[in-house]
Amino acid sequence: MPTPVLEVKNLKTYFKTGAGVARAVDGVSFEIARGETFALVGESGCGTSVTALSIIQLIQDSGFYGGGQILLNGRDVIPLSEKEKRKMRGNKVSMIFQEPMTSLNPVFTVGDQILETIMLHQKKSAADARAAAIEMLRSVKFPNPEAIFDEYPHRLSGGMRQRVMIAIALCCKPDLLIADEPTTALDVTIQDEIIKLIKELKESMGTAALLITHNLALVYNNAETVGVMYGGKIAELAPARALFKNPMHPYTIKLLRSIPGRAMRARPLDTIPGSVPPATAYAEGCRFSGRCPREMQGCAAIEPLLSSREPGHFAACHLYDSDFMKTPDSTPLHREAEILPIISTPPDMRETLVKAAGLKTYYPIRKGLLKRVTGYVKAVDGIDLTMKKGSTLALVGESGSGKTTAGKTIIRLIEPTGGEIFFKDARLTHLKESELKTFRSKAQIIFQDPYSSLNPRLTVGKIIEEGLLTLKPGLDRKARLEKIASTLGRVGLDAGAMERYPHEFSGGQRQRVGIARALAVDPEFIVCDEAVSALDVSVQAQILNLLKSIQRDFGLSFLFITHDLGVVKYVADEVAVMHQGKIVEHSATEELFSNPKHAYTKKLLAAVPRMGNDF
Ligand code: SF4
Repeated sequence: MPTPVLEVKNLKTYFKTGAGVARAVDGVSFEIARGETFALVGESGCGTSVTALSIIQLIQDSGFYGGGQILLNGRDVIPLSEKEKRKMRGNKVSMIFQEPMTSLNPVFTVGDQILETIMLHQKKSAADARAAAIEMLRSVKFPNPEAIFDEYPHRLSGGMRQRVMIAIALCCKPDLLIADEPTTALDVTIQDEIIKLIKELKESMGTAALLITHNLALVYNNAETVGVMYGGKIAELAPARALFKNPMHPYTIKLLRSIPGRAMRARPLDTIPGSVPPATAYAEGCRFSGRCPREMQGCAAIEPLLSSREPGHFAACHLYDSDFMKTPDSTPLHREAEILPIISTPPDMRETLVKAAGLKTYYPIRKGLLKRVTGYVKAVDGIDLTMKKGSTLALVGESGSGKTTAGKTIIRLIEPTGGEIFFKDARLTHLKESELKTFRSKAQIIFQDPYSSLNPRLTVGKIIEEGLLTLKPGLDRKARLEKIASTLGRVGLDAGAMERYPHEFSGGQRQRVGIARALAVDPEFIVCDEAVSALDVSVQAQILNLLKSIQRDFGLSFLFITHDLGVVKYVADEVAVMHQGKIVEHSATEELFSNPKHAYTKKLLAAVPRMGNDF
C-alpha cells in the first residue's frame, strides 16, 4: 500500500480561553490518499476549519497541540521548525479560503503574488518564474493571463479572485490542497466553474484534496470519502456514496434531512434542537447527547467509539455497539416528535397583494470635474411582478442581477426611477414619505446578516420597540411590552430576550430577533433578502420552518430573494428569474424546475450541485 499523502492520527488542537481549555479538535484521525478528495463536513464550531489550520500549521496565539500526529508523506509536521513549516506551506500543502480578498494583498499585483510563491519554493530565473506564473493563470482559465498578471485584486470579480487564489495555491504543485469553503461566497454558476476547475487541476497534478464545506451536494458530487465532525470529533466516516445512501450517525441523518428540497415541500424541515455546545463544555460521553432524537439513558455519560458496520463505514454512536445495546443504558430517553404537515391556501384562491409594473431603478454614472451624468446603471430595468396573499414568490439570480435592488424598490426603501407599485390596488409610487406610513407597517424586510442589521447598542426589546413607536404610535408602553413579549414567544425566544443585546445571541437566534422585529408591526408582506443564506444548514431549517409557520398563521406574503435554489424549491410557490435587471422567466416552482424555458434559467439550474434525484 502506498503511503497516504496525509495521515492525521488522534489529533488534539486545543485553545486556552477565559472559560477554560476549548477542545476544538479532540482526537481526530483520518487519512487521504494521493489524488483522493476527502470532505470534512459539520456545522460552525464543530472543528472542521481548526483541523485544516492544524494540518497547514497555522494555529496561532492561544492554540496548542494536546497530542497526536499530522504525517505529510510520512513525516510529522508538528515538531518542524518555523522555517521548515514555511517551506512546507505552498510547496507541499496549500490552502484556499472562503473569501479570497482577505487572502490576497491589495497593494500587490496578481503577478507579484504568484511570483512570490514560486520564487520562495522553486529555483527559477525571473523570466522562467514569470512564464510559469502566466502559464498557471492560463490553466485557471483566464483567457488573457498576461493582462491579469498586471491587475490588482480589487479590480477583479469574486470568481476571478478565487481563480487567482487557486493559481497561487497550485503553482508549486503541492501534494495536498486544502479548500475551506472555497465557493461559499460565490454565485452558483461561478461555484460550479471553480469546483470543476479544482477537480480538473487536481486530477492532472495528482494532488490530494481536503474539502471543507457545509454544502452537502458539493460533497456528494466531488468527494470520495467523507468525515462528519461534531463537537471536535469524527462522528461518522465513510465513502461518500455509502454515507449519503445509508447514513448511520443520528447527527448525519439530521443534517441530511434538514436540507431544503422539493421532496420536503409538504412538511416542515427536520431540525436539530439546541445548538452546538461550546468546546469548553462538552459532555463526558456522547457530545451529541442533549440534541439527539435517539438518545439513550447512558449516552451522556459513556463515550461512544467509532465502530464499523460495513467495510470502511464507521460511526461513533452506541446504537452500533452491540454490547452497549444489551445493557439498561440503552433505554431510549424520548421518541422523536411527530412532524406536523403545513397546510396552505391553494394558489388559485389567493388574491393579489403587491404588484410591480414596469418597475425601473437606474443609478446615474457621473464623470468629469462637473460630475455630469454620462449614462445609467440599469439595476432594475422594467420588471413586472405580482405577489399574492399568503404565498411566496422567490426572486432568484446571481449577484448583480438586480434582485436586492428590486426587493428594496418594491417596499420603497429605494426610490424607483420609473414604473408603478400597487399595494392592494392603492398606487404607492407617487406617495410622499409621510403618506407611506400605513404601507411601511404592512411591508417589512428581513436581511441576510442579522448582526449588522441589529443595533448593537440597543437591547432586543428596544430594537423591536423602535419599530412599534414609529409605526404603531397608538400603543401605550404596556401594550408595546406585551406585543414585544408575545412576538418573541412566536419566534421561539423567551421574554427574557428583551433585556439582552444582539451579541449575546447565536446567528440563528439573531435571525429570530430580525423576524420578530418585522413581525411585531403586523405586516402583510415581508421581503426576505437572503434571510437564511448565512446560517448553518440545521439552523437554516429551523428558520425556514419558522417562516413557513408564521406565513400559515398570519397569511403573510413573502418575496424571497435568494441564490439558493434548494431553498427556493422548499419555500416558493412561484419563481421569477432575474438577469441583468430584467425578469427572464416567471412560473410556478414545479414548472420552473421541471421545464425551464429560458437559456439563463437552464444555465442556473445546471450549475446547482445535485444529490440523487431530488436535490
Ligand atoms: Fe445519539 Fe446516543 Fe448515538 Fe450519541 S451515542 S448519537 S446520543 S444515540
